[in-house]
Amino acid sequence: MPPRVRFAPSPTGYLHVGGARTALFNWLHARQTGGAFILRIEDTDVERSSDEMVQGILDGMRWLGLDWDEGPEVGGPHAPYFQSQRLDRYRAIAHELLATGRAYRCFCSPDEITARRARVEAEQGGWKYDRACAALAEADIRARVDAGAPHAIRFLVPDGTTGFDDTVHGRIAFANADIEDFVVLRSDGHPTYHLSVVADDVDMEVTHVVRGDDHISNTPKHVLIFEALGRPVPAFAHVPLILGTDKKRLSKRHGATSVMEYARQGFLPEALFNFLALLGWSPGNDREIFDKGDLVEAFSLGGISGGNAVFNPEKLEWFNQQHIQRLPAEELARRIEPLLRERGRWRDGFDAGDRPWLLALIELLKPRAKRLHDFADETPYLFSSDRVFDAQAVAKHLHGEDARATLAALADALRSVDPFERTVLDAAVRAFAADRGLKVGAVVHPARVALTGRAVSPGLFEIMELLGRDRTLERLRSAPIT
Ligand code: GLU
Repeated sequence: MPPRVRFAPSPTGYLHVGGARTALFNWLHARQTGGAFILRIEDTDVERSSDEMVQGILDGMRWLGLDWDEGPEVGGPHAPYFQSQRLDRYRAIAHELLATGRAYRCFCSPDEITARRARVEAEQGGWKYDRACAALAEADIRARVDAGAPHAIRFLVPDGTTGFDDTVHGRIAFANADIEDFVVLRSDGHPTYHLSVVADDVDMEVTHVVRGDDHISNTPKHVLIFEALGRPVPAFAHVPLILGTDKKRLSKRHGATSVMEYARQGFLPEALFNFLALLGWSPGNDREIFDKGDLVEAFSLGGISGGNAVFNPEKLEWFNQQHIQRLPAEELARRIEPLLRERGRWRDGFDAGDRPWLLALIELLKPRAKRLHDFADETPYLFSSDRVFDAQAVAKHLHGEDARATLAALADALRSVDPFERTVLDAAVRAFAADRGLKVGAVVHPARVALTGRAVSPGLFEIMELLGRDRTLERLRSAPIT
């Protein structure tokens, strides 16, 4: 049977990079093996869950290209995929455990438990539920239930040890003596996480559970429930934590942790995908740049390392730069259109006759672009007729009668350059400097400030070409000389 994996976020927050990486490993495993990738929303904590967060998670996954085969908005044979809509099923399973003697009703109130716990902890140190209710007589239980006494349902942990083979960490075993009889159904009829997650993994026929390391200590409880239900125990792969560069658990202190925040900051989904895949997984060689298809081919759960992974934002930026290089200008034009529109720099002609101009600009900026925003923001003077003059650049390069005369003469010389293209302009400017006995820099620097307002810009001749003859001559002539 092809593998069935799931990503099971609790919608109590946006999709953060840790969750996205877990989703991504699951997705890669499904796509590589021809299995199914299920998205299940674990929204049993009604107070802390919200539709907005669910939508945010779906948006983040779609943006990253993590499409799911079963789940919200897609449906599937095991719908619904929201735990809040499956409560009856959890109650039924809790009752199945009761009926088979693998669980018992617990009438202890939280206050009673707190008091007993305080006493035991003071006397002996550790506490686990003392099984007070495991010994109740059947008639007593019946009478209490008939009287409507509130009660939880606890799993009866058997003697022995419970272990599992973790694809990442190897064999992990726990002494059952260290596991208390945990609650599976609360007195308000709500399941605990342990019950709902196992019930769903059973019903949805999940074969591989790939999730965060922080769940390792929960897993023996889950194994016990699977076994008690007489259902096959899935394979487990617990993925190590993501740390910040200071080796502390990744949090907002380290900068953006939301996937959609990276989208807003001009990162490509391809780059974040590539970067996240290599956070804790390795192809077994030095290769770093992968597209999604390559990753699907190269991925294996066995390549996930047991050590914690470090999230390095500079490395992410490097990946972004690499993936920007790999996109054709036409594709980049589509991606930056919303940014240009937002900034009022979009012209209708960009969809028509001015398209080649936009593509040429993109080609010019591409080699140094780290984020999509660079295309929209690096050269405002090419989109607008006003240039903003940098005072230092003006003071350094635009002063004195010489500068005025040089720029005026350059404008005259460029009148007849034909075609008005970078290589021809390059030759013309050099010839102009030589004629006047000037160093090339003595022409190029003032011209750059005159055209862009700045001392630093992409190639001057490319800028001239993109400005075109009229605007170039006009800007050379109207430069503010101090
Ligand atoms: N809902 C759980 C979480 O967000 C995931 C449970 C699981 O993957 O088993 O941590």
